[in-house]
Amino acid sequence: MPTSPMPIDHTAIRAEFPLFEAHSSGRPLVFLDSAASTQQPSRVIDAVAEYQRHQHANIHRAVYQLSQGATRRYEEARATVARFINAAEPAECLFTSGTTGSINLVAAAWGRANLQPGDEIILSTLEHHSNIVPWQLAAEASGARIKVIPINDAGELDLAAYRRLLSPRTRLVAVNHVSNALGTINPVREIIAEAHAAGALALIDGAQWVAHGRTDVQALDADFYAFSGHKLYGPTGIGVLYGKRALLEAMPPYQGGGDMIERVSFTGTTYAGLPSRFEAGTPNISGVIGLGAAIDWLSERDFEQVSVYEQALLAYATERLAPIPGVEIKGRAARKSGVISFVVTDPPLASLDVGTQLDLRGISIRTGHHCCQPLMERLGVSSTARASLALYNSRDDVDRLADALAEILQQAGLRAAARAGRLQVDQADLAPRSQVFGSNSSAAPADGMNLNEVAGVEPAYPAAAADSPQAAADAIAEDFALLPDWPTRHDYLIELGERLPPMPPSLKTEANLVRGCQSTVYLAARRKPGSEAVIEFLADSDAAIVRGLIALLQRICSGQSAASILAFDVDGFFDRIGLDANLSLSRRNGLEAMVQRLKALARET
Ligand code: PLP
Repeated sequence: MPTSPMPIDHTAIRAEFPLFEAHSSGRPLVFLDSAASTQQPSRVIDAVAEYQRHQHANIHRAVYQLSQGATRRYEEARATVARFINAAEPAECLFTSGTTGSINLVAAAWGRANLQPGDEIILSTLEHHSNIVPWQLAAEASGARIKVIPINDAGELDLAAYRRLLSPRTRLVAVNHVSNALGTINPVREIIAEAHAAGALALIDGAQWVAHGRTDVQALDADFYAFSGHKLYGPTGIGVLYGKRALLEAMPPYQGGGDMIERVSFTGTTYAGLPSRFEAGTPNISGVIGLGAAIDWLSERDFEQVSVYEQALLAYATERLAPIPGVEIKGRAARKSGVISFVVTDPPLASLDVGTQLDLRGISIRTGHHCCQPLMERLGVSSTARASLALYNSRDDVDRLADALAEILQQAGLRAAARAGRLQVDQADLAPRSQVFGSNSSAAPADGMNLNEVAGVEPAYPAAAADSPQAAADAIAEDFALLPDWPTRHDYLIELGERLPPMPPSLKTEANLVRGCQSTVYLAARRKPGSEAVIEFLADSDAAIVRGLIALLQRICSGQSAASILAFDVDGFFDRIGLDANLSLSRRNGLEAMVQRLKALARET
């Protein structure tokens, strides 16, 4: 390792990441989703490959040299982790599958031994589901209760409220160091000190911190500290739980199996000491080696400089995005990490559409609830678009994002204006609608009728677009065969979605809300009055792309017999028209949820 830290040279850093090399021709990839997972430098990829090719053997178990070499590398990586976070000793650093695995370990093992009915666990509104659900499970099992630290409108924890929540009943405070959804950097040293003063322990979810600032678990006095390799330029499926020795030693084992025992007999088993006691079974050896290499790579840089670079980039990104009309940045904490969450309010554009349209321009950002549904609820949104920064990002990336966003909003504005114009429906406007939904579609409003008014009258459920779902699907497949690539298919879907029959607000009820979507989706399905074996449905979404999918589904299923809907293979159809490759799983899950509802109704028929 060099004795003096390397300066942050963005171009040199970027050149170390093969992914960017692979996407360097034409329009280079702009990757702004490092809060979800960072890319890996060659050093990490090579270390894992070298291990897999030439050094692999199981660890801790054999006398032969290959195994001893693997064991040495594994334990060296543990020492690297300990130095990286300034743990008192490597044995306090347990390898887990990631932050989620680490928090579950504490919630299950420490929770089982320590939580009683009436005890309290304090979490915060900013938490990732990984730092909520394990505690809910532990609370359910023990009778403990969960209290939640609120936030202010800037996305900062309300520390006065936190102090009020602390009591002699508080057993543990579990908060993140940095919010993945808003970027807020929490004053964890203070939070830990207050927890200790109240006689409670503190667990810090460091998933979003460790790659961006120096971590010193002893200076923080953290009782537990969790993080993941894949947000630290390392591999997926590997993470760390730091715990103070005395606490770990007092905890019962989490999982039982090989390597975590001292002696096993049917009359009783004794357990190994730290760290093996909490690493049952063959671990993710190559992941550990990759994590060690990632930490070595990052440690060649000075965290002061990392922070200066990333903060300057964050300031620039804020400066570029904030003035774009219609963009509203969520999370304006005074201390923020390189995360910008935003929503588009004017014209209203679902985060899913923002993400999809940026992707069409070679820009990867994250959209959705970021596994922070309680936080989204507090912010009054169902999702945000999130750009997150890492050392390989530059001002050029930010410029590409800001320019693309401005262009997308401008186009959305033009579309919205055109749509408003089209609402004064004339005969010409009705033609494409009948193509989409079938010439006998009862969705087509009467001539001259304003679509907004349609919402006020008896909802117009679309009639069958073809003789059977299969016939409708064949016709759609023929149309799609003429569309050469994903961008043209995307535009076509948006067009279809714009011509969806309106869904009256009275049908947008909680009961008609479809869960499992990145966007908000409502679906109202019914048996056709007077023709009970026929299913018809109306649906709507705040995301244009999902409205396009709804249009396809409606054309296939609405007005068709229950039996034919049940027999139709929707998955196979999306595969056939080539959308499978471009629509993310969660978007498909939304579709899947709609299909499941239709099929459930069809089964009851
Ligand atoms: N905590 C925070 C703050 C996160 O951002 C994440 C991942 O996004 C997690 C926990 C879960 O991490 P993992 O999926 O690596 O276990």
